[in-house]
Amino acid sequence: MDDTMSELELDSHAPKGPLQDRWKQHKYNARVVSPSNRKKYTVIIVGTGLAGASAAASLGEMGYKVKTFCFQDSPRRAHSIAAQGGINAAKNYQNDGDSVWRLFYDTIKGGDFRARESNVFRLAELSTSIIDQAVAQGVPFAREYSGYLANRSFGGAQVSRTFYARGQTGQQLLLGAYQAMSRQVACGTVEHRSRCEMQDLIMDGDRAIGIVTRDLVTGELESHLADCVVLCTGGYSNAFYLSTNAKGCNTSAIWRAHRKGALFANPSFTQIHPTCIPQQGELQSKLTLMSESLRNDGRVWAPKNAADCDKKPEEIAEKDRDYFLERMYPSFGNLVPRDIASRAVKLICDEGRGVGTEIDGKKLGVYLDFADAIKAQGLDAVSEKYGNLFQMYQRITAENPYQTPMRIYPAVHYTMGGLWVDYNLMTSIDGLFAGGEANFSDHGANRLGASALMQGLADGYFVLPTTVSDYLAKHKPIKADTYAGHAEQAKAEAEARIKRLMNAAEPSITPDDFHRRLGQILWHACGMAREQKTLKQAIDAIRALREDFWQKVKVTGEAEQLNQTLERAGRVADFFELAELMCLDALEREESCGCHAREEHLTEAGEAQRNDMDYSFVSAWQYSGDVSQPTLYREYLHFDFVRPSIRNYQ
Ligand SMILES: Cc1cc2nc3c(=O)[nH]c(=O)nc-3n(C[C@H](O)[C@H](O)[C@H](O)COP(=O)(O)OP(=O)(O)OC[C@H]3O[C@@H](n4cnc5c(N)ncnc54)[C@H](O)[C@@H]3O)c2cc1C
Repeated sequence: MDDTMSELELDSHAPKGPLQDRWKQHKYNARVVSPSNRKKYTVIIVGTGLAGASAAASLGEMGYKVKTFCFQDSPRRAHSIAAQGGINAAKNYQNDGDSVWRLFYDTIKGGDFRARESNVFRLAELSTSIIDQAVAQGVPFAREYSGYLANRSFGGAQVSRTFYARGQTGQQLLLGAYQAMSRQVACGTVEHRSRCEMQDLIMDGDRAIGIVTRDLVTGELESHLADCVVLCTGGYSNAFYLSTNAKGCNTSAIWRAHRKGALFANPSFTQIHPTCIPQQGELQSKLTLMSESLRNDGRVWAPKNAADCDKKPEEIAEKDRDYFLERMYPSFGNLVPRDIASRAVKLICDEGRGVGTEIDGKKLGVYLDFADAIKAQGLDAVSEKYGNLFQMYQRITAENPYQTPMRIYPAVHYTMGGLWVDYNLMTSIDGLFAGGEANFSDHGANRLGASALMQGLADGYFVLPTTVSDYLAKHKPIKADTYAGHAEQAKAEAEARIKRLMNAAEPSITPDDFHRRLGQILWHACGMAREQKTLKQAIDAIRALREDFWQKVKVTGEAEQLNQTLERAGRVADFFELAELMCLDALEREESCGCHAREEHLTEAGEAQRNDMDYSFVSAWQYSGDVSQPTLYREYLHFDFVRPSIRNYQ
């Protein structure tokens, strides 16, 4: 790994001055394109989940010519639809002391002081406008008897600021954004292509000027030129194979941009969510989240004695139960942030006090119990809040959570890392922007619950429309004819890559099989706990398996037709490269922070030990032409308004 800083300047372009005035001032300073000229500019948006659909709706409404792409058969199937629990906003409807400043503080502290103050404050500030926008679109948020929007609490906060639509918040918000985008499709400002996957960027020197796509039904490769490109392509949790993400989620768009020069920030910062349905078998291919909202009323416990672990939960007396989150963190109790709760669950299971199915010789599960909530509030009240989640749990496990406690275990859920972006959400490639989970911008080393939807929609509805306009105002519309050669070359590279995948020397192993093996390596070395020795071993193992992949991957069918094995093979090839970078990043960061728990850097009590003196920076990695030799740049973080403190949820 080349660790020498070169001359590349990592300027976040974050404005100066009072924190509360920065975004206002920045917007005021941003240039605008005159309405009559906007249709001369083409903006490509890859990805139409919450971030992409909201950006497309907004930029289309402004009058730009927007082209959108997604690989599913409809934008409504983006992974955003799976978001269950809610979206944060500092409306303070509960009058419980919330404010933009408090949301800002909770978010930056929740991220273990590894995010930029300016970005996080803007996020908190915009949170209130998102709710107004969504309500105006008709998003059916839960309401109180009075008609006010209802709120609940999520981890890492002591106020109620999470807006929700039962356990389907992502779906309802996505329908709102999709309908706003569809309106622009009808108006002719947005042209949408489903089942169309970006293969690569088209570059003119250091500037992004378009993309190459593959039509997933016909296999045809096409080029699309534009004045700028926005990637809203989601997160890369599926590098681990088993995660709570939709099976199709992948890293390919951002990884290929990375190979074209976009810096990749904090790749090892992966969120492990504490409340997922435990793995049931070695060949399982997907994990299911049980929303964090359940921790509002559910109590997490494990048997005090390992001898009780095989008993049914109802046979374990109250005095023999360890409500370990309440015991370890009395002030936040069951609502500690995700990283803290996940590590506590792992600790209990590592001690041999886990329950449920054994995986690799260990019982990986603890209980999430609603008996007290049902006793206090009644079954109907609990069902009204969580009914669809309980139903989902019952369908998957064949156990009734109204009668017996749920079993839960942490699982990979979200990636805080992503493409490095500045305050304008522009990557280190000129004209290439990234929004939503695809960028690294706001969550530091750990994301608080209900803040991903907030960030995706802040980026799409409010930030990108301003910053993309500012960028376009500084450039003349491109003349597409000039770039035919660039487009052809990018297409030829994409074609060569597909040919290589289709023609391995000894085709014998499916992409899925390789993916499963890669995921196991990554989970054990770069999951909930990391240490130098295992990370080094994992890097060697990933390199060896990657070589094997290119030698033995078996892709059946043809490239010029619908071919899901080919789609998977392309995505797994990128996961192989990213996985190595994740381990290199984890290895380089000699501290514990947020999700990143290095065994060598824990306090005596087993809590994460941050090292602000040496590691208060964003790691931004540059592709050097050799995936095993990336160059590390550091964006140092400055805290003028909050003082990084030891996170204490006790
Ligand atoms: C089970 C679950 C529950 C969650 N619940 C919550 C919650 O309650 N609150 C919260 O705040 N967050 C939640 N999250 C996180 C949140 O859902 C995501 O972070 C967020 O929805 C991501 O939105 P996005 O628009 O960035 O990406 P996505 O919704 O993942 O959209 C990605 C888009 O990119 C497209 N795409 C990707 N690659 C390509 C390519 N190469 N070519 C063309 N198109 C491409 C896809 O087709 C898709 O349209 C949850 C996550 C999970 C896994």
